[in-house]
Amino acid sequence: MCVMQKVKEEKSAFISVMGKSLERIEDNQHRLDNAEGYSEVWEIVKANVKQVLHKQRKGMLLFLDDMPLRLGAYHPLGTNNLVLNRTLVTIVEATAKSRKLLNAFVYTLLLHEYLHALGYVEEAEVRPLVYQISKNCFGGEHIAAKLAEQGPWSILRGLPLDSLRAPKRVMEIVKDFEKTNRRYIV
Ligand SMILES: [Zn+2]
Repeated sequence: MCVMQKVKEEKSAFISVMGKSLERIEDNQHRLDNAEGYSEVWEIVKANVKQVLHKQRKGMLLFLDDMPLRLGAYHPLGTNNLVLNRTLVTIVEATAKSRKLLNAFVYTLLLHEYLHALGYVEEAEVRPLVYQISKNCFGGEHIAAKLAEQGPWSILRGLPLDSLRAPKRVMEIVKDFEKTNRRYIV
């Protein structure tokens, strides 16, 4: 095979790989930007982790609780539970006024806790992984990658978080968080 032919083939293989990953990024962006509710964001989190890290864990449950605003979410070790700060999500929902931003915020928090649940215990390990996965799946310019890079609290910059008080309500479970049925079977 002549050199030019080889270069040409390598170039077209490269373009085809690039095209596929661009397509995947656009698909991910579209899904996350338009996701309606926790379980749709969760599906994306799981699919992204599976794709990048080839790991998955089924049967997770999501709880909402009112917590101090410096805490976004947590995963009690040894359980299948993720607990998300309902007060914080409510504030982001009210301030962001955009589904896209709210979804990216929830995505970042759920991805972080999911990585803990998968056995990545150290913060120093989880944070860069959240950024790597977000960048890989949405592209570096997407809000999910920006939030992962700058920290999810960056969208609340300027808000007097310490002086905000919210009533403490009972912890609730998010129904049908993990879909056991296939997407289109009703
Ligand atoms: Zn953490």
